[in-house]
Amino acid sequence: MLKIIKFLSIILIILSTSSYFLYTTIFDTSDKNQTLVAQKNIINEDSDNIQNKNLKEDNKNESVFSFSPIPNNVKNRMIGKSMPSNEPISFDNLSYLNLTYYGFDDKTHLGEMIVNKNVASDVVDIFKELYEKKYPIEKIKLIDEYNAIDEKSMADNNSSAFCYRTIAGTNVVSNHGKGLAIDINTLQNPHVIGNSTSPKKGYIYANRDNIKKGMIQEGDDCYNAFIKRGWSWGGYWKNPDYQHFEFK
Ligand SMILES: [Zn+2]
Repeated sequence: MLKIIKFLSIILIILSTSSYFLYTTIFDTSDKNQTLVAQKNIINEDSDNIQNKNLKEDNKNESVFSFSPIPNNVKNRMIGKSMPSNEPISFDNLSYLNLTYYGFDDKTHLGEMIVNKNVASDVVDIFKELYEKKYPIEKIKLIDEYNAIDEKSMADNNSSAFCYRTIAGTNVVSNHGKGLAIDINTLQNPHVIGNSTSPKKGYIYANRDNIKKGMIQEGDDCYNAFIKRGWSWGGYWKNPDYQHFEFK
């Protein structure tokens, strides 16, 4: 009998101990509360991070479309390159543009361009439209960054406008020389003359049946943005210049 009582009391002790542990595991909420508080803090931190991230994204997505008289530091970059030293066309006839554009890398970039001041406002609108439509443009730099060597700028797929020059073999100032012509994605849109292309590297894009990123074609967003503002496209020329738009 004593043995049975001893056995039962041991069972009782075991049961009460295990139920105590069970109770603390299931019903002890102090840890849970701490966990909840911790989780809440993490959520707050996360929402702060998201807010900060959004702010950063917003800043990054801030677009700039501006035109102004040419600043002196920009004039200095141009003289002896896109602008001959004797300034055959006055800087006063030109405008300096800052243009946000949508890159080949799907990111936002800021470019610089010089155009005739009579078309500056329209050109800003054109590039604003291209940006809003996410039309991909690889680079928009001043041609002076290539020492105003057109072949270099074109081969680097740089889109640009003003560069003083006369039409080969004449004294007639070209439309680029007046800031009234713009070349877009020059590598994918070469000037095709017979069997050769400008830039040379652009020959693989001479075939216009196979449309790839950056190639301009009739009726696309780039074509439409220029044409509806009265510009014409070199793609229709006898020796097609697919990169070229001009205003006359
Ligand atoms: Zn051109």
